[in-house]
Amino acid sequence: METKRFTKKDLECLKKDLLRKRRHGWKVLKAAEKRDTFSYCEAYKAFISNAKTEREVAAFIQEILLEDGFRGANSADKDVEKVLWNHHGKAICAYRRGKLPAKKGLRIIVTHIDAPRLDLKLNPLYEEFEMAFLKTHYYGGIRKYQWVARPLALHGVVFLKDQRRIDLNIGEKDHDPVFTINDLLPHLAARVQGEKKLKEAIHAEKLNVLFGGIPINGPSKDIKDAVKLNVLNILNSTFGIIERDLVSAEIEIVPRGRARDVGIDKGFVGGYAQDDRACTYAALRAILDAKALPYPALVLFVDKEEIGSDGNTGAKSRFLELSLFDVLRLEETPLEPDTLYRALDSSRAISGDVTAGIDPNYTEVHEERNDALIGHGVSLTKYTGVRGKYSANDAHAELVDWITRIWDKNGIVWQAGEMGKVDEGGGGTVAKYIAALGVDTVDVGPPLLSMHSPFEVAHKCDLFMTYKAYKVFLEND
Ligand code: MN
Ligand code: MN
Repeated sequence: METKRFTKKDLECLKKDLLRKRRHGWKVLKAAEKRDTFSYCEAYKAFISNAKTEREVAAFIQEILLEDGFRGANSADKDVEKVLWNHHGKAICAYRRGKLPAKKGLRIIVTHIDAPRLDLKLNPLYEEFEMAFLKTHYYGGIRKYQWVARPLALHGVVFLKDQRRIDLNIGEKDHDPVFTINDLLPHLAARVQGEKKLKEAIHAEKLNVLFGGIPINGPSKDIKDAVKLNVLNILNSTFGIIERDLVSAEIEIVPRGRARDVGIDKGFVGGYAQDDRACTYAALRAILDAKALPYPALVLFVDKEEIGSDGNTGAKSRFLELSLFDVLRLEETPLEPDTLYRALDSSRAISGDVTAGIDPNYTEVHEERNDALIGHGVSLTKYTGVRGKYSANDAHAELVDWITRIWDKNGIVWQAGEMGKVDEGGGGTVAKYIAALGVDTVDVGPPLLSMHSPFEVAHKCDLFMTYKAYKVFLEND
């Protein structure tokens, strides 16, 4: 068979028309968008610097929503355009009316507001060798060696006998003391740590926080645990706390300090809990800033993702359905037994979560043709899961096609990503729990470096494009 012979010019045209290019976002963005990217990231850094626990994030989101005119679902005003629900102070749902009623379907974005950390045990405080310590129990997938020998802050809530609630935040202000977990000196570490596997070198029961070192002043020769007593006396005189109150307290130990620009060109943001507050902040700003909404927008901020989405504030709870029942009632939709599920079945959702960016130091775990590239924009992850896509949502082609076309039309810098080589590891998001309700769902978020570490890194282009991708999702039908 005779095959057509192409000229050099033809080939150039063919390449342009047929091949998909992977380009760094900074080579594509216009000057104004680059400025917007940097100013967006200033506000984002302030958010992740100031809100470090799920309760703090929920409170921050609620405050911003109220300022923007959102009202509680029980508000006397029945004709509300914007509604919010706060679930146990750890999960938030925000709803904005669209052109169509909710029963015709919604645009949903779900992100999680919990992050890996160290929680205090219920009997945390003890003294050894005249130093006071706090026992911890880690939460989520941490790498324990990353949490020693660094300044830590204490955030949390304590309930007193008189039913007062004390919100603790110690270690963030310049004059605050900080806390730390001591590590072994190299001189003595060779056998106890050096010969062990990395994951065994620091034992979970050794993640004990240094909390005090001054014995109580007085005739103390007969007092056992004089440092512990002194520490308790400080807690009592400052906050009214006694040891018994620590049983019900929820106190989280988190990395101390503010998020920072990283790199001489300030191309990255470095900071704690960007998984998943990169997506949380993007989703919050998207529902605030979206212009016309063809469908109603619903953004859900959930807790407990890092420990399997269980519990009544996690994505497996009935919080989304409860909120949606309220919406249907507010819109005076006659409630048949299947009304709620029909609405969900007609809905589309973004599961907003971060993914792994290719780290040049560890290319052996990445599949370079398919994993997300840092700086190449927001990443769409069709499926997560482990091994043969086990436990994955695996979004439908129809949804992936629709969303990527509207992104193309609106100048979103996006890429398609997977999380590492097949069979190398894997992970999951809330996508499968939202999809189980009937909603067409896909994972969308920025790639991170050092994910789950105390100092996660994200490219500013990818952070801003996540916001833009969410906003365009809400604005298009
Ligand atoms: Mn996550
Ligand atoms: Mn995570």
